[in-house]
Amino acid sequence: MTFAPVSRDEIIEAFRVRNPEHLARLRARANQVRAERVGEMVHLRGLIEISNHCCRNCLYCGVRAERREIVRYRMTIDEILSAAAKAVEYGYGTVVLQAGEDAGISDEQIAEIVAAIKERYTLAVTLSLGERPDSVFQRWCQAGADRYLLRVETTNPRLFGAIHPHTPGSGFPKTTDRAAMLRRLRSMGYEIGSGVMIGLPGQTAEDLADDLAFFQELDLDMIGTGPYLPHPRTPLGIVAELYARGGRPGSRIWEEMVQQTGFTYPVSEETVPATNIMGLTMIALTRLTCPEANIPSTTAIATLDGRYGRISGLQSGANVIMPNLTPMRYRPLYEIYPNKAAKNEEARETHEIALRQIAEANRIPGVGPGGRVRR
Ligand code: SAH
Repeated sequence: MTFAPVSRDEIIEAFRVRNPEHLARLRARANQVRAERVGEMVHLRGLIEISNHCCRNCLYCGVRAERREIVRYRMTIDEILSAAAKAVEYGYGTVVLQAGEDAGISDEQIAEIVAAIKERYTLAVTLSLGERPDSVFQRWCQAGADRYLLRVETTNPRLFGAIHPHTPGSGFPKTTDRAAMLRRLRSMGYEIGSGVMIGLPGQTAEDLADDLAFFQELDLDMIGTGPYLPHPRTPLGIVAELYARGGRPGSRIWEEMVQQTGFTYPVSEETVPATNIMGLTMIALTRLTCPEANIPSTTAIATLDGRYGRISGLQSGANVIMPNLTPMRYRPLYEIYPNKAAKNEEARETHEIALRQIAEANRIPGVGPGGRVRR
């Protein structure tokens, strides 16, 4: 059976009208497309959060550079290799090395870590280390990295600019074009992954429809999306909480507070709510738009609904889970948003929970590297 692709009008209606029965039908349709196009396996990617140091100041992120009060950590190569050994022990085909943009780990050290993992284990290696110059991406690819994850966060250029301030004197280019970066990563030989947050202050249904068109245009191999979770100790978290409590542009408190945060984007009533149902809707629409992509049921969704979030994602079009393998003592420190799922679990427990969730969704754990399959 073939399915009619989802139209732009249908996408906008889903995010704007939010009719529960209609959204449930969309998710069921996406689940069917998932079954036909990528099958019943749920690929497991072991996530290793190798450092929470960061030189950037993304307005939404809990580990942004300006948060001088938080404890920073950086895993040693031995710690990273033992985490990768757990991925092998649990039967995962991939590890994902993620971190802030940490100037304290050299490009060469990352290359060495990648090479060491590839030499010892049969694992695909995905990197999620932020923006880098092409020469560095090339070096990591040579060292054996297979995939790169770089979310565009939003394709709305003005909103992107508003949440990603330029750091003067950082040596970074003033504007970044992550779409172009992803295309170059693909031409170097990486599988490429991207994605967005849902429900950023001011983000509309049209913006999300544009994001989906972008996923399709780039023909992304991996697409991770999730609700924006306000971190109260970040500028955007302050804006989001004020909005949630009924604050609106034009009021005195809004103008005063928002000015302090430096967030200059206009926030209207059209803002899509950052809820689990919108997250699941985005997963479903992503599957309908990009039927062959690897789509995770993300940690952000598991954070909002600890019991059913992951499972609902798997039943709405997702075919990937990324269990966290970061050592217990570092887990609470990689707090990009509060109450992150699996914050206080040992890797084994996280693994067992993932297996139970896969069984509960009537699916089977993936075998092999679980790369993009083109049909
Ligand atoms: N430094 C790397 C990894 C960032 S963390 C990079 O910039 O690519 C991975 C993802 O977590 C981000 O791309 C972002 O989409 C998501 N994230 C960060 N803060 C968040 C928040 N407050 N709520 C929801 N998702 C968040």
